[in-house]
Amino acid sequence: MKTEKLSKYLPKLEGTIGDSEIYIIEGEEEGGSLLIIGGTHPNEPAGQLTSILFLENLEVKKGKVFIITEANRSAYAHSYPQEGAPFFYTIETNYGERKFKFGARATSPSDQWPFPDVYVHKSSGQKMSSHDTRNLNRAYPGDPNGTYTEQVAYAIKELIVQNDITITIDLHESLNNYLNPPYIGNQVIAGNPKSAFYAMSLVAEFNQKYQTPNNVPFIKDEKPKDGSINQYCSQDQNRIVFTFETDRSLKLEERIRQQLTLIDIFLNQIKPS
Ligand SMILES: [Zn+2]
Repeated sequence: MKTEKLSKYLPKLEGTIGDSEIYIIEGEEEGGSLLIIGGTHPNEPAGQLTSILFLENLEVKKGKVFIITEANRSAYAHSYPQEGAPFFYTIETNYGERKFKFGARATSPSDQWPFPDVYVHKSSGQKMSSHDTRNLNRAYPGDPNGTYTEQVAYAIKELIVQNDITITIDLHESLNNYLNPPYIGNQVIAGNPKSAFYAMSLVAEFNQKYQTPNNVPFIKDEKPKDGSINQYCSQDQNRIVFTFETDRSLKLEERIRQQLTLIDIFLNQIKPS
């Protein structure tokens, strides 16, 4: 396994909290590439743990897999006041207790201050709420001379472009599922026809084989949010990209099982016969 850091793609991130690790596992044969991103939103732990499980267990025969387990490290460094969120949580394993960091949805104010009353997404001009200024998944394609959050988004965008990443999967969670609006949850987001093509069979196979504990089937959603990595990869770059959204009202192990199963089904569907 090789490692890189985001500062390879934006040198000014070196020595800052934004210099996340990138793990690269290469197969013996040449092939396509897959980027799995956890920790875009550090209060959505299933994505971080799913990406770590992949990192620690994956065997790659063909192509390259890039894994980021903590995409917005600044957002791991704080939590929102009065939400009662833990700083850490532990998981019992066969080889002892493991401790993981829990964080907030957005960049810490200590790394990005002040924030405007209205956030204007640079490339689209779209106006968003103030807290989205620090939301990594509203900052793509980023800006090398912008805010901390825009710089991290820019480095991840450069990683995708410079390595010509074939498929990107960004792992997310919602507070609940789509049957309880305004939540999204139990969804696979696919923002262009080629991603939607795979998402359709992915969701169909998942729902046929696995029942979720709350009986909410997964659905395909073709509307990625403005400034999200999904919108950038699908609409600006025409790459294959998925955002998985699991339902945080379920047990953590169930959400991780759903994310792992979705990735597993997808990889089996595209496996050359
Ligand atoms: Zn999220």
